[in-house]
Amino acid sequence: MTRRLPDAVIFDFDGTISDSETPIYQAYAGALAELGHTLTIPGWATVVGHAEDESHAALCAAVGADLDRDDLEARYARQDRAWRDTLPALPGVEALIDELTAAGVPLGIASSSPESWVEMHLVRLGLRDRFAVIASRDQVGGRGKPDPASYRYATRALGADPARTVAVEDSNPGVTAAVAAGLTVVAVPSEITRHTDLSAAHHAVATLEHLDLASLIALLPE
Ligand SMILES: [Mg+2]
Repeated sequence: MTRRLPDAVIFDFDGTISDSETPIYQAYAGALAELGHTLTIPGWATVVGHAEDESHAALCAAVGADLDRDDLEARYARQDRAWRDTLPALPGVEALIDELTAAGVPLGIASSSPESWVEMHLVRLGLRDRFAVIASRDQVGGRGKPDPASYRYATRALGADPARTVAVEDSNPGVTAAVAAGLTVVAVPSEITRHTDLSAAHHAVATLEHLDLASLIALLPE
């Protein structure tokens, strides 16, 4: 008997589709070094996946200092950000998306980043037309993960039953958001988030090369 396809698969963007978290880490580490602070990867791992306001508070906690947000963001903006134009998709992303698209599984993005950021990278990677919906912070009144709003928005827009929808996530706030929205969650830790607790996910793989349609179907109820 052929098992049912997922209603939809919804991907996080940063750290899941593309390793944007590592160059972002390097740019923040450079900005903080100018101020005499050291940002470690485990420290940065406590920051990623949050929306902007929570991220600044988490960054202050990570370096043990009350940082001036405008000054820090100005220093961040002055770091080398040429990486933005060359960052590839992570291993296995394109093959998985190709297989899901060929099978007719609707795909979405749920991200705490601005829509313009996600759009820019998906267009650059040639993946924009694969996603029927992008649920960024802009679609949900600025509510970032772990708030489930972006997953709820994407699931609803795709006409999907959350119980038959899979989320693919690299961060703790993202896993928390997707679980709260009622999705089945696969954790794919990045170089940074492998330092964090992703144990609330239903399944974990080292990279998306280890995930295919059959393994996603097997995670869902009959
Ligand atoms: Mg992420």
